Amino acid sequence: MDELLLRWLRLAAARVAEARELLTDLDAAIGDGDHGINLDRGFCELGRRIDGRGVPGDPPPAVLDAAGRVLMGTVGGASGALYGRAFQRAGAALAALDEAAGALPPVRREVRAAAAFAAAVEAVAALGRARPGEKTMLDALVPARDAFQAAVDAGSGLEVAADRAAAAAEDGAQRTIPLVATKGRASYLGERSAGHLDPGAVSSALLLRALADAAPVA
Ligand code: ADP
Ligand code: MG
Repeated sequence: MDELLLRWLRLAAARVAEARELLTDLDAAIGDGDHGINLDRGFCELGRRIDGRGVPGDPPPAVLDAAGRVLMGTVGGASGALYGRAFQRAGAALAALDEAAGALPPVRREVRAAAAFAAAVEAVAALGRARPGEKTMLDALVPARDAFQAAVDAGSGLEVAADRAAAAAEDGAQRTIPLVATKGRASYLGERSAGHLDPGAVSSALLLRALADAAPVA
């Protein structure tokens, strides 16, 4: 898991850098045009910290917590707080699982990942006071969480579960186009927010696709 986690964060940083213009253009249409710039700044810093070993390589709860702090401190905007909190809560969920495990046999890594992912999505919903249908990153994250859990429940490994989650997130992001935003900056536009992709939903799908691509093929 630790190796995968670091591979994911590095790949995520590269994908965010590639999508910087796209995310910024999407945000320019219904927000203030900083989403790509914000995320790229944060993930660049995260990449630097990983390579400089400023983020501990082990254990995963500590890596996720540190990643959340870096994102919270460098991304800025609504998404910085939301993604930062999501990573921190994912780390806390993993730590709680480890503590509860005690002398029990080790929990499968995809089961651990599903718990961490669910905690992350819950954190976004709680902090953003949002739910699906409001044209936010939750329109990608909630179906992705459900698809991930369904795959794990059906016995799939992390690679397959992450691929299903990424596909559900990509679909969820596309489905934000007709929605009217009722949370975040895009809500200031009211009905005029319809007809555009939500930038945060697109970045969430991108982060999950990076996870699927970072997971080695079984
Ligand atoms: P800001 O809106 O502060 O400029 P960003 O541009 O970085 O922040 O991020 C905008 C994205 O954040 C939106 O596209 C949306 O997906 C997400 N977002 C904004 N507000 C909320 C909220 N209350 N709950 C969930 N997601 C939100
Ligand atoms: Mg913005």
